[in-house]
Amino acid sequence: MDDVRTLSSDGFDGRRTGSEGGRKARAFVVDRFKTIGLPPAFEGGYEQPFTVTPKLVPGQSGSTPLEAANVVARCAGTDASLPVFVASAHFDHLGVRNGQRHPGADDNASGTAVLLALAQACRDEPFRHTVLFAAFDAEELGLEGARAFLAAPPVPRDRIALNVNLDMVARGDKGELYAAGLYHTPSLKPALDEVAARAPIALRFGHDRPGTGHDDWTMQSDHGRFHQAKIPFVYFGVEDHPDYHKPSDTADKIDPQFFGKAAAVILDALRTLDRTR
Ligand SMILES: [Zn+2]
Repeated sequence: MDDVRTLSSDGFDGRRTGSEGGRKARAFVVDRFKTIGLPPAFEGGYEQPFTVTPKLVPGQSGSTPLEAANVVARCAGTDASLPVFVASAHFDHLGVRNGQRHPGADDNASGTAVLLALAQACRDEPFRHTVLFAAFDAEELGLEGARAFLAAPPVPRDRIALNVNLDMVARGDKGELYAAGLYHTPSLKPALDEVAARAPIALRFGHDRPGTGHDDWTMQSDHGRFHQAKIPFVYFGVEDHPDYHKPSDTADKIDPQFFGKAAAVILDALRTLDRTR
């Protein structure tokens, strides 16, 4: 909750890519990885800079490229022969629109905070697989951070066995968390069935069937880029709520009890997948 409150606080101004608030969010994640004690995933450091040209919005005359950067840490696995997992969450959000700050507490300060908690857990007790902890920029501009990451990954792309993506994991309005992606990769199901059976909240599967329109979340967040690259994914998230992409997506709307349980379920899932894949 501390990380969610910080990232969604006024000083971060909604974390729009290329904005001062966006840069602050990026620096915050770098600092947290340093404090946790995980090394950078890239030779040059934690940051993977790229530029993104926002799509033209009707009524806008021009669009200048924005400076963006992913922030990625590495947690070495205990078995170097195994392929690599990528845990991810986007830290950018919508910024200020029409004079209104969009704090993005659930979307996606929540996923970023859980990503940092997973990184801490990995630092404390490493996984068998090496895990890259990727905080992506420019998701809101069209999954651009994940695209940049896969265009120049810190390990060969064919070494990446799984993406576990987190986007909006804190709002327990319905008391349930979804794990999407099993339709595309049914072999994930036994491990996640195990996790669901002992989960302290409802862990549901679905939202991944082609032809179901907006109910199919396959391309709704950064995991979509992994899917396009034929890399299996599990996406954790909640269904849209009335504060989705609104100035009212604030930290006080989050039930810390649900959020803590959701984080525990996601950690359990990552550990169980690590053990069984
Ligand atoms: Zn999001």
